[in-house]
Amino acid sequence: MRLLVVEDDQLLGDALQVGLRQAGFVADWITDGISAEHALATTDYVAMVLDIGLPRRSGLDVLRRLRAGGSKLPVLILTARDTLDDRIGGLDSGADDYLVKPFEMAELAARLRALVRRSGGTSQPCLVHRGIELDPAAHRVSFRGRPVELSAKEFSLLQVFMQNSGRVLSRHQLEEQLYGWDDETGSNTIEVYIHHLRRKFGRDVVRTVRGVGYLMPRETA
Ligand code: CA
Repeated sequence: MRLLVVEDDQLLGDALQVGLRQAGFVADWITDGISAEHALATTDYVAMVLDIGLPRRSGLDVLRRLRAGGSKLPVLILTARDTLDDRIGGLDSGADDYLVKPFEMAELAARLRALVRRSGGTSQPCLVHRGIELDPAAHRVSFRGRPVELSAKEFSLLQVFMQNSGRVLSRHQLEEQLYGWDDETGSNTIEVYIHHLRRKFGRDVVRTVRGVGYLMPRETA
């Protein structure tokens, strides 16, 4: 669950990156509007946290241009206190939600989870698939009613598969969701994590589609 965070305040940006990581997201942090557009053009994000007052290009301009290009990326804007115009302008420009600074990290994480959930076409807080139940808020997974211990990356990978069941995902797409710019990626780590998931949830939980990628088969009714 890779997010783009655009915030020019160093202290807040740093806190956002750390806090969102603790909440189970991967967060890339950018400090100006032009760099944000470059990042959006080259990386696949599940959502964006966007400050309004930014150098080089304002958050509202970034948002308008994003929507003009047809993007449906969930966007949560951050606005200063007492700036009703910013909030209205942001929502009218295509923001999905907003928070007024200062805010609680736990609330930001919960709102982002809700946005990502809705953009995936479901309002269910828990993901359920063939006996696997994944609770993004509590960061818990169970299989056939029993709790399963997963590493942070295994959890993220399982979540990406559950949100995209029935779709083939390339290794590159999976890596994009699992790693931020600051993370080191080994050459075969995705395969290792998939191996772990198969060991914990059964061989067929994720299928290899030769030469293309990996697939969590859609649940058959
Ligand atoms: Ca700012």
